[in-house]
Amino acid sequence: MSSCAACPRTAPDGQHLCQLHAGELRGWLAELPYQARLLQEEFLAPAGRPAQGRLGGTGSATAPIPVDLRALVLLGPGRYDPDGPDDDGQAPITAVLGAWAGHIAYHYPATTRDPHGTAHAQPCEQAWPRHGETITGWCAWHLAYLPFALTLPLAPDLHRAISNLIHRLRTLTHTTPRRQTMAAPCPECDVFALVRIDGQDITCTDCGHTLDLDAYDRHAAAVRRAHQPATT
Ligand SMILES: [Zn+2]
Ligand SMILES: [Zn+2]
Repeated sequence: MSSCAACPRTAPDGQHLCQLHAGELRGWLAELPYQARLLQEEFLAPAGRPAQGRLGGTGSATAPIPVDLRALVLLGPGRYDPDGPDDDGQAPITAVLGAWAGHIAYHYPATTRDPHGTAHAQPCEQAWPRHGETITGWCAWHLAYLPFALTLPLAPDLHRAISNLIHRLRTLTHTTPRRQTMAAPCPECDVFALVRIDGQDITCTDCGHTLDLDAYDRHAAAVRRAHQPATT
């Protein structure tokens, strides 16, 4: 038994985040491409050219960064170093996702065979997203490698970095997934704390147990049956 690096809950064996925080991270990675699309539609011209307007002007050095500039930075190219000095919260999405993928890939043991047929395990040199180095491609990569990333001590930092991205996006798109409290109690801890957030599995906010909608429907039906008065 280990404990979650982000809260007092227990994390599954060999992992650094509890089910609740791992589920949250999974949900954010699934939400990111959708939020990025919203941002693109809202702030970038249809031709793909950056919207002009508030980008011009002669603001003072202390003037707040215009919304479209923040959108451009998030969606644009750039570099980001997860090991660098404090993240100033200005890094582009693909740069953050790509840098973290590189970081995780470095810990992922790749097996190669030398000319004598002996297998050698060595770190991967680079992460290759199968769907290209786009926001969607990187999110798919991260979702696929999440079970491995959760076993690394960097998992809580990854959680923080993705949280930062998703909250910057939500602030600009003014879109937060709906949150719905479920009627049946948690099948694991029996507390009425199951919550469904758009695009994510249903999660118990008490013990962190997760279940998909089908599993929830079966569970809720069983609960209803158990509480039905017996008929003759
Ligand atoms: Zn936790
Ligand atoms: Zn529970």
